[in-house]
Amino acid sequence: MSEFSGALQEVYDVVYRRNPGEPEFHQAVEEVFESLAPVVERHPEYVDILTRMCEPERQIIFRVPWTDDSGRVQINRGFRVEFNSALGPYKGGLRFHPSVNLSIVKFLGFEQIFKNSLTGLPIGGGKGGSDFDPKGKSDAEVMRFCQSFMTELYRHIGDKTDVPAGDIGVGGREIGYLFGQYKRIVNRYESGVLTGKGLTWGGSQVRPEATGYGTVFFASDMLGAKGDSFEGKKVLVSGSGNVATYAIEKIHELGGTVIGCSDSSGYVVDEKGIDLDILKEVKQVRRGRLSEYVELRGNGATLGTEGSLWHVPADAALPCATQNELDADDAAALVKNGCKVVAEGANMPTTPNAIKILQGAGVSFGPGKAANAGGVATSALEMQQNASRDSWSFDYTQNRLRDIMSALHDNCLTTADEYDAPGNYIVGANIAGFVQVADAMLALGVI
Ligand code: NDP
Repeated sequence: MSEFSGALQEVYDVVYRRNPGEPEFHQAVEEVFESLAPVVERHPEYVDILTRMCEPERQIIFRVPWTDDSGRVQINRGFRVEFNSALGPYKGGLRFHPSVNLSIVKFLGFEQIFKNSLTGLPIGGGKGGSDFDPKGKSDAEVMRFCQSFMTELYRHIGDKTDVPAGDIGVGGREIGYLFGQYKRIVNRYESGVLTGKGLTWGGSQVRPEATGYGTVFFASDMLGAKGDSFEGKKVLVSGSGNVATYAIEKIHELGGTVIGCSDSSGYVVDEKGIDLDILKEVKQVRRGRLSEYVELRGNGATLGTEGSLWHVPADAALPCATQNELDADDAAALVKNGCKVVAEGANMPTTPNAIKILQGAGVSFGPGKAANAGGVATSALEMQQNASRDSWSFDYTQNRLRDIMSALHDNCLTTADEYDAPGNYIVGANIAGFVQVADAMLALGVI
């Protein structure tokens, strides 16, 4: 457990005691608290606000019964944590993965508050999901699960209350089944209730690409701040899902080469550059393993055999898979191999010790709540289009995303400077995100 100064420690002790057995939530809170000491010193009125901010406004846990293809009844657990609505309706994805529990949903929801604040758009923070594992399930099973999940969730969400989107295990297919069931239950076509929808039924251009693209825009600005760019760089991107796929696409567009990616079964090294058509075929169409990528690609691509992806020499690293996937050993390998920038496409993928090693060695480090905010920002743009019954072009939407990420990047740097931590994106993101929410909470009174 970290040690904090005075009042912060008292708040943290309460959070720790009140939320036993939730290590991921504790980790996310600690990470924010580590940046906040100078703010609380300047503004003691924020101490009470912080205590309130760590307590979700509402936590919903529910049973999700569904029938599998053999006729057996299966039971999963559903979650929605509505963390903070000071800036706007709760906004944050749904994750379907066997590891999902209250601690994971709360860590994600807590981070989401600050991330959403950083976008500068009017959205509060929330997160949800289920311990349902879509892997190996038929399409019909996924549909029945989604329908049952929404049959409970629908009463808690709405375009002005809580607007879920996708996350791990929840892509366009799942959002479709969820939206269909919502529409059926309420008997209204309320596009703004979910984001990540298909283009023909209320979705936004660039939403599928937004988290990956946004992370690369942010990393590109980090390099730019040092007078550098992606041109000619060798890059590692972990994962091979939504975020990773579009991060790879944008890095290639910007002149970098992604020489390795991963999935939960291992990693692949492809020095000539990951072939996105083959990757999409394997992961999006076949929903298969990376070994199939190696078979289809030939051309010298190999499956990693030792250590992790992070031990492959490269100039930049974008962890885009899952939490705590880049540890101290990995960070030491990145530093040894001359990596210059790490930007988190995933949420909390870098362990606290790994972050210390990277920052200690002068590697520029972009935390997820800033670097991967492009996804939720574009979700907010989807909400805008739904509210005005409009749809924008790809280029217009991508330019909006680019501008949001640049402003966010600059806000982190300026805030870090203001608090005597030049170049420290963690301090900048945590403080800038926090202050905006804290001021709104103060204005709204004790609620
Ligand atoms: P997907 O389900 O599309 O992809 C997740 C990828 O990570 C899959 O390739 C999966 O492999 C891989 N993976 C899972 N666990 C591991 C592991 N232990 N080691 C290596 N690879 C692993 O999810 P997303 O791409 O949507 O999300 C990825 C991350 O980005 C998450 O942290 C999410 O919270 C975050 N994020 C997502 C946003 C979005 O808009 N989707 C927005 C902001 C953040 P396999 O195929 O084997 O399952």
